Amino acid sequence: MLFRNLIPVDSKSKSVPSVTVDIRVENGIITEMSDSIEPKKDEEVFDGKGAFVSPGWMDMHVHLREPGLEHKETIETGCAAAAAGGFTAVACMPNTIPAIHTRDVVEYIVNKAKRLPVDVYPIGCVSKERKGESLAEMGDMKDGGAVAFSDDGDPVYNAKLMRTALDYASMLDVPVINHEEDLDLSRPGHMNEGRVSSRLGLEGTPGIAEEVMIARDILLAELTGGHVHVAHISTRRGVELVRDAKKRGINVTTEVCPHHFDLTDEEIERSGFDTNYKMHPPLRTEDDVEAMIEGLADGTIDAICTDHAPHSIEEKEVEFIYAPNGILGLQTAWSVVVCRLLDTKRMPLADVLERLIDAPRRILRLTIPQLKKGEQANFTIFNTDEKWTYTTKNNKSRSRNSPYLNAELKGRAVGICNKGQWVFNQ
Ligand SMILES: [Zn+2]
Repeated sequence: MLFRNLIPVDSKSKSVPSVTVDIRVENGIITEMSDSIEPKKDEEVFDGKGAFVSPGWMDMHVHLREPGLEHKETIETGCAAAAAGGFTAVACMPNTIPAIHTRDVVEYIVNKAKRLPVDVYPIGCVSKERKGESLAEMGDMKDGGAVAFSDDGDPVYNAKLMRTALDYASMLDVPVINHEEDLDLSRPGHMNEGRVSSRLGLEGTPGIAEEVMIARDILLAELTGGHVHVAHISTRRGVELVRDAKKRGINVTTEVCPHHFDLTDEEIERSGFDTNYKMHPPLRTEDDVEAMIEGLADGTIDAICTDHAPHSIEEKEVEFIYAPNGILGLQTAWSVVVCRLLDTKRMPLADVLERLIDAPRRILRLTIPQLKKGEQANFTIFNTDEKWTYTTKNNKSRSRNSPYLNAELKGRAVGICNKGQWVFNQ
């Protein structure tokens, strides 16, 4: 396979090169990379027409829903959405049925994903059956392929369990990813607590519910030396806590979802309670959105992830307060990045790519792919100027709960190459 006329960029690109390269891939390896490669007889050729190519992006926080919730998504449909969104790797959260809490379930996922063009890394549960009571067999799951531990969907609520998990995780050299939510403070909130929730008369989830847990986990990371990864951060104060902890040398990292640096709680009112604006943590305020962008730009926020959370139409098409939390994210993440970070010149392309390529793999202790002759062909082809509309036709997920559906977007993943396979958006 020959990929032609691509502009190579990565997290170290000081400036965008003006010359294109051709890349030859044979048996999953980059066997040639230079200004111009002549196609061999009968060789398949893809003309990138000046699109960018970078090492493959990774989304370290997705919900693939399999096993047990295949009406929402499967490993295969989730990976199709990932590929269409430009991701060559995902890490999937364990709130499935059964939960990913034993080596068997970890291996089931690894095996199911083997032949797919996207690398799938399971995240195992911190607690048995994700009940938050006793520690799951973390060592066993790691041997089976788990790359981190989390009870995501729910927090690890018991501080003693979190402490033990961090002790264990530091022995295994893996992070514990926590869904930061003090349930006593957050329930029964349906959206961000603030001006908009009072106007709408809806119970709110205050930012402090997230911040109290982040503060607790930072203290536990300091005590144990274990690596805490703060999942889907969403408040200004939360970002400040992480920034301060990093300055003090505490082993803490974090991630943010595109919707949290793009949308605010005002959307719920504006849309007339569209449940595609309901997720946890909830959409916050303009000031929080600004803090997410500042945090990404200065490196306090390590990674961009989507928290891709498929729910069926029947589940989401109910009254706002009864709808489940979560929205799709894989196919629209890049367009939000282009609109909010690149076009606004808040971040250079190299730094954005660092948050999408290097950071997630560094956090999960995975090898970062390189765009070089002799390396595995693991790359993403993308542009920053194509106008396109995300529709039910080009949506690859089994669900369609996205606030960006039918919106005109700018910047698109063109395709990916990984594991000797290639997938292109038409
Ligand atoms: Zn979560």
